Amino acid sequence: MMIALKVDVDTFRGTLEGVPSLLRLFDRYRVRATFLFSLGPDHTGRALRRIFRPGFLQKVRRTSVASHYGLKTLMYGVLLPGPHIGRKAGAVMRSVADAGHEVGIHCYDHIRWQDFVANRDEAWTRREMLRAVEAFEEVFGYAARVHGAAGWQLNASTLELEQELGFSYASDVRGRSPFFPRYGGVDSNCLQIPTTLPTLDELIGLDGVTQENVHERLYADSRRQLPHGHVYTLHAELEGMGLLPVMERLLQMWQREDELCAMENIFHSLDLSQLPREDIVRGELPGRSGKLAMQG
Ligand SMILES: [Zn+2]
Repeated sequence: MMIALKVDVDTFRGTLEGVPSLLRLFDRYRVRATFLFSLGPDHTGRALRRIFRPGFLQKVRRTSVASHYGLKTLMYGVLLPGPHIGRKAGAVMRSVADAGHEVGIHCYDHIRWQDFVANRDEAWTRREMLRAVEAFEEVFGYAARVHGAAGWQLNASTLELEQELGFSYASDVRGRSPFFPRYGGVDSNCLQIPTTLPTLDELIGLDGVTQENVHERLYADSRRQLPHGHVYTLHAELEGMGLLPVMERLLQMWQREDELCAMENIFHSLDLSQLPREDIVRGELPGRSGKLAMQG
């Protein structure tokens, strides 16, 4: 089965430290992946306002956020000014493309997108997406072709803008298989290729799953047959840092029988004329607080 690796890069530290570690690991296993970058300011510290959201504190305790993200990152945008990731870490981002991986846009400001996009209007969404598009071009010198929304959050304008801005495909939702999305009265012809597997931070700490055995649980999930393969979303801040050994175990297991690849390999394997139009809905997933965009 095809298993695409989608690397979400959320923070400045994840870009500087997690991304190079993943590059070395992927190089050792001869694996290609898709890296989606946060291109503007790192305001991770502002996530602390989610403290008032049900389930958030529990999750922070369960997944030891502070140990994975580091104290400094948790102060960006609160007690320290947030560093502009694209301007300060552009060389690291270019090294990813130079190593042959697919690159694309995760967001401009992760925390702002994740916390607000669901309830914002077209003008707000356009401004945020254009900032990301411009910052990507500043780093790479060409236009981005892939969009993968931060925190699996979006609104109807996101779908419209993905079409207008010329993205080849997007990966903004959780689901089962590629589809053309419909949401909030918008039909978009920018294909969605959903994340099909749970993330490590959703699994660890629930149902007896630990850092030591989480790879077995994920591997078992990836045995579920899907028509166009799986998409596994990993994080530069987790699999690229403290959970690097978990990622290596997963690569070893997957390389026995599966074809590890970038998301564009799935995209190019598809016959677009055969793919359905489906609704995006907002729903909840175990191990994650709040609602996110899902294939209906
Ligand atoms: Zn993210």
